[in-house]
Amino acid sequence: MLNGSDIVAPDKRTPGVVAIDPAIYPMLDKRYARRIERLKVQVLQQDEGGEYFRFLTHLVQTQQEILARTPLELADIEAIHSLLKQGDPEAAQFERSLGGIPGWQAAYTTLATQLAPMLPQKAAQALGNLSASKAQLIKAAAHLLRADYAQVDPGVAVVVWAALSTCWAQAVTFKQGEGIVQSLAHATHCPCCHAPPVASLVMGGAREGLRYLQCSLCEVRWHRVRAVCVACDASGQLDHWTLDDAKSAIQIETCGDCRSYIKTLRLDYDPELEAVADDLGSLLLDSAMETEGFMRIGINPFSFPA
Ligand SMILES: [Zn+2]
Ligand SMILES: [Zn+2]
Repeated sequence: MLNGSDIVAPDKRTPGVVAIDPAIYPMLDKRYARRIERLKVQVLQQDEGGEYFRFLTHLVQTQQEILARTPLELADIEAIHSLLKQGDPEAAQFERSLGGIPGWQAAYTTLATQLAPMLPQKAAQALGNLSASKAQLIKAAAHLLRADYAQVDPGVAVVVWAALSTCWAQAVTFKQGEGIVQSLAHATHCPCCHAPPVASLVMGGAREGLRYLQCSLCEVRWHRVRAVCVACDASGQLDHWTLDDAKSAIQIETCGDCRSYIKTLRLDYDPELEAVADDLGSLLLDSAMETEGFMRIGINPFSFPA
């Protein structure tokens, strides 16, 4: 494993970049299309686990269909924004609010119905049980949104999160700029929906060299300078790791101060990469870092902790 430090000082603006957008909102259909492409690449590359990537390809295709056929109603967009503005309500209130948003529940039912035939009977049954019980479905969603992942079966969590994500992404994108509910400069969690990031992206093109974190829920990307740890803001012990060579497009940034790490995808080296699919395709790097005692910042919505 090589360690190539390529951090830049926070005051060094990247040449050619005039203004830094604090947040980039997703073009959701394009995001899904790229994710599907990259999942298909993983199906071919994985010796084992290709089946799971095939399942995920179908899951994202279903999200794409939901987006095209049943875009989120305005009432649901408003309800999601008012939920986000509540901050941290008590559990019963939070569940009532979630229950009052039919769009994500319908999205879940569509996903569960489409995906069940691809799954072993037990897993299919688990998805069906939640379609049949609105109360249980809402409870599962509430646990996930509060990062209480251990309360939900990891297989079910992927599908519930996919339903929430398709709706939250539409709601946040619909009201671009209005939805930022916390300051961006030190945000470890998404400034629009509070969810954890999937990974860190070093951008190419017009934003060459800038670092954005990508939200695991609403798909927004928010800017963070590259010379500091995204968890603790320290800059003294940042290191970059890759499995093969220092120019590898998939890297890990570790912080020796707080012992955390985040996956970094260098879109400036490989613009084809997609955060969710390519993070999942490189979990070997995560295992190596966890063996070294570093804790991951953020989640991958296709791989909830068991
Ligand atoms: Zn978000
Ligand atoms: Zn740190």
